[in-house]
Amino acid sequence: MSSQGRTIVRKQGMFFALGCLAAAALLPPGAMAKGSGTCTAGTTLRLSALESSQGSLLLIEVKSAKPLSEVQGDWGGRSVPFWREVASETRRKGLLGVDLEKAPGAYALKVTGQTTRGEKMSCSATVTVRKGRFATEKLQVGKQFVEPSPEQIKRADEERQKLRDIFDRVTPERLWDGKFRMPLDGVTTGSNFGRRRILNGNPGTPHGGVDLPGTAGTPVHAAQRGKVALAEELFFSGNTVVLDHGLGIYTFYGHLSEIDAKVGDTLEAGAALGKVGATGRVTGPHLHWGLTVERARVNPLHIVKLLENE
Ligand SMILES: [Zn+2]
Repeated sequence: MSSQGRTIVRKQGMFFALGCLAAAALLPPGAMAKGSGTCTAGTTLRLSALESSQGSLLLIEVKSAKPLSEVQGDWGGRSVPFWREVASETRRKGLLGVDLEKAPGAYALKVTGQTTRGEKMSCSATVTVRKGRFATEKLQVGKQFVEPSPEQIKRADEERQKLRDIFDRVTPERLWDGKFRMPLDGVTTGSNFGRRRILNGNPGTPHGGVDLPGTAGTPVHAAQRGKVALAEELFFSGNTVVLDHGLGIYTFYGHLSEIDAKVGDTLEAGAALGKVGATGRVTGPHLHWGLTVERARVNPLHIVKLLENE
């Protein structure tokens, strides 16, 4: 390895701690002050927070005095997936994903629906987005580390489009039930979410997931029940598995040493889907774990926290 290569490793180590701090600061407030919206008579809307930041996930709850037949949400032109609480006809829950690069500002949330008797209901709220506090890593490295070959660029572009096409598909049924788990046993947090690398003065795309520490060969578990939407080797993330949980919710597992699932398989929550590795553009073994909600790249640690009481 050249001296430039060693520089990258050292700097990564240095920013690992920063990444952890950023991830901790991003955790949803949980029991802290919740927000509520304005609704038509007989309906209430509650949110896990009214103030969010880039890359965060909010839980929405709609309660009605009368049984509901349908509920849908729109947040600044993006649809919000809602699902029915198993034991309740009068409650719906939804997840609002704030993309990692969503422009800070105030966005109107509109929830509409109707009761089983056909009466219309609606709620509105304003959800503000603050700039995320993410680590920035400035690196000066040799050209060979910055500029992939034209073939590699073409391959990476095609793979990015393939992933975009997957995340655009919304499976109408909710395939999961209950809480989401961390994909590695004994690992409770991750780092580097949103970190942006500036290589030789050029800002790259922000890091869209969390990196979980793990030694090569450690089993990687499905965070929840889902259908395998992708299971193949990609240029940046190496051996990768993408799980479709339904309602536009996807989890992403990268850099695996081996993949133990195939496209179309339905995996139960906690099923082993592969092993921790160092495939793709990485310097050491770890799990890259991502979460996409209606195409918004959000911090996957949030879904574990938000749904922990499910
Ligand atoms: Zn990563």
